[in-house]
Amino acid sequence: CGIVGVVGKPAREVVLNGLKNLEYRGYDSAGIYLNDLQGHEYLTKAVGRIANLEEKMTPEEEGTTGIGHTRWATHGHPTVENAHPHYSEDGRFYLVHNGVIENYLELKEKYLEGVDFKSETDTEVIVQLVAKIAKDEKLPAFEAFKKTLKLVKGSYAFLLVDNTQPDHIYIAKNKSPMMLGLGDGFNIIASDAISVLDQTKTFIALNDGDCADVTKDAIEIQDYDGNKVEREAHVLDIDP
Ligand code: GLU
Repeated sequence: CGIVGVVGKPAREVVLNGLKNLEYRGYDSAGIYLNDLQGHEYLTKAVGRIANLEEKMTPEEEGTTGIGHTRWATHGHPTVENAHPHYSEDGRFYLVHNGVIENYLELKEKYLEGVDFKSETDTEVIVQLVAKIAKDEKLPAFEAFKKTLKLVKGSYAFLLVDNTQPDHIYIAKNKSPMMLGLGDGFNIIASDAISVLDQTKTFIALNDGDCADVTKDAIEIQDYDGNKVEREAHVLDIDP
């Protein structure tokens, strides 16, 4: 239901605060993934309020790449296992998703036979498929992601992290809102700009069919064929 991601600055509070600002939209569970780029990563999920999630997090959980999610269950009950972020069988990729994947069963049957699924969600199929394509075709994360996106039907705002290159967040949008906030030495992604206005007021609104490779000081927006796309940034003239 809500998404916040940040790369390039301590992400824990930024993500949690962003998710709290999205609470009014309603949700049944929440989760956060943090990577400190020093070989430590943390995944915490909880049913219910973001306060429950915070209670489960240990003090050392921090990172300069972070993705978080509030879930409004569409496929699978509101449980800890079904809460996002979801991760691939090999432990390499982490993904949060707003929306609904219409062809997830088809993708699962066609490409992911024998994969050990941890959840009942439509979302997990996508992260497992990215991992499979990356492995089988020896593709870098962004390439495997784009190849996956071409196979996916449905609505989505995705944030993807590859823990072999954790200073990047890969993002994509189709029929679900996603804003890219530009910071000085960091970048931030959110389903609603309002939720992160304390961090930046400069935003790029992505179009449907856009994907991007986001690091702390660079943003490369492309279509799924890898053609570069230009999108203008706008300064939002509103107070948090
Ligand atoms: N369809 C996904 C799920 O049920 C995402 C729902 C959402 O947008 O929160 O887990």
